[in-house]
Amino acid sequence: MYSVKRICYQLIVPVVLILVSLMIVWKWPQIQAQFKNSKELKAFLVLLPVLPYVIFSIGVLMGWRYNNMGLVMGSVVLVLSYLITLRFSPGQWSNTYYEAYIFLLPLNMVMCSLLIRRYIFTPKSFLSLFLLLFQTLVITILCGRIDFSSSAVVSKFDSLIPFASIRLDDFSNGFKAFLKMEHLVIFKQIPTPAIISFLLSLTYLSVRFLKNRDILLAGYIGSLAAVFLSAAANRPEPASVVFHITAGLILIITNIEASFFMAYNDELTGLPDRRSLNESMVNLGKKYAIAMMDIDHFKKFNDTYGHKTGDDVLKVVATRLKEISGQAKVFRYGGEEFTAVFQGKSVKESIPHLENFRKTLETSQFVIRRRTRKQNTPVKRGPGPAARQKQVRITISIGVSEPGKHHPTPEKVIKAADKALYKAKKTGRNRVCC
Ligand code: GH3
Ligand code: MG
Ligand code: MG
Repeated sequence: MYSVKRICYQLIVPVVLILVSLMIVWKWPQIQAQFKNSKELKAFLVLLPVLPYVIFSIGVLMGWRYNNMGLVMGSVVLVLSYLITLRFSPGQWSNTYYEAYIFLLPLNMVMCSLLIRRYIFTPKSFLSLFLLLFQTLVITILCGRIDFSSSAVVSKFDSLIPFASIRLDDFSNGFKAFLKMEHLVIFKQIPTPAIISFLLSLTYLSVRFLKNRDILLAGYIGSLAAVFLSAAANRPEPASVVFHITAGLILIITNIEASFFMAYNDELTGLPDRRSLNESMVNLGKKYAIAMMDIDHFKKFNDTYGHKTGDDVLKVVATRLKEISGQAKVFRYGGEEFTAVFQGKSVKESIPHLENFRKTLETSQFVIRRRTRKQNTPVKRGPGPAARQKQVRITISIGVSEPGKHHPTPEKVIKAADKALYKAKKTGRNRVCC
């Protein structure tokens, strides 16, 4: 449930932007008519084709400042795509150059997605940039768009290897006949190899996105869909500009969102972090309760089973905490400490929910695999992996408080909840105190 919500949340920006651009392209004649009446809007229309370059430059600059090669490369691919789209209008489908470009475009987007969060000055980044420029050069030479045909080198190459400059549309027609894809009307204008490379790339990116739920991947999916729509559109007039602007915006916004997400969420547990808690304090109403929770004897647990197993347990506890009743918002306060905020509830109203959670945790069994063995202990063969699994129990102590005479502000309520937590620890742990 939680992950479906997160997936939808991450897809909102690409989906909304693509829908808006579809709307603009569809309503373009009416929009243009409106623009005619105003000088300023008319001037904007003249400037519109320059806008994609502005957006791509922002993408490159941002990528450079954040040292993120994925964003730099994504923006460069979009620049190339826009340049080529402007030169060859989608009417010229037989154009080999365009076919090669549109076939390679999704694959290049996949290559960019592999550079997510990678630094700029690394061998891998340089290799990808080289690959991109190399393929542009090769296509340019093979398809003879820039008039290389008269060049001695190329004519020599042509006579030596006549099949090297095989036309992609022959390849495409063969595929079409093979797959009988003629009924796919909307794709009819796009060469079949390009459709296949697009679908394969989209599937690959989607599978990775569903697995990692990384908003940056949602960005590449959206961006790829947008540039492909630009190629698929029947009317080239506003489509190439509008969809390229969209593709650039999707890349930039998803990168900003990813940074925002990292700043406000804890990486290990996926819960909102302390910064997020501090911000939510400003937005609390008058009636609320704050609970501070601390896992019991966690240091001992770490010492016995290892830090990595400790991390796994923190993740499981966080997953359970996300399901706490009473519509509490939960945060990782730090270390093995968590905070639950019950907005609109008093301490008395929140205690049953906290008790429920405490009991669920107490009665759950955590199956852990022993990852570490004490040194000098010989590795025993025999009983197999089951013997290396152990069931452990985890308990948590909770202190809860609400605004009052002595602690009127949220910060002071947290302090009071901390005091109550201390009391819970002192009086035997695994309990809720207020
Ligand atoms: P108490 O019942 O009094 O709370 O005892 P405790 O051992 O839980 O408390 P203490 O504050 O002494 O130790 C907290 C431990 O939590 C210390 C540290 O090793 C562990 N810890 C904090 N953050 C992490 C983390 O991110 N991962 C792991 N594995 N352990 C962590
Ligand atoms: Mg602690
Ligand atoms: Mg503890």
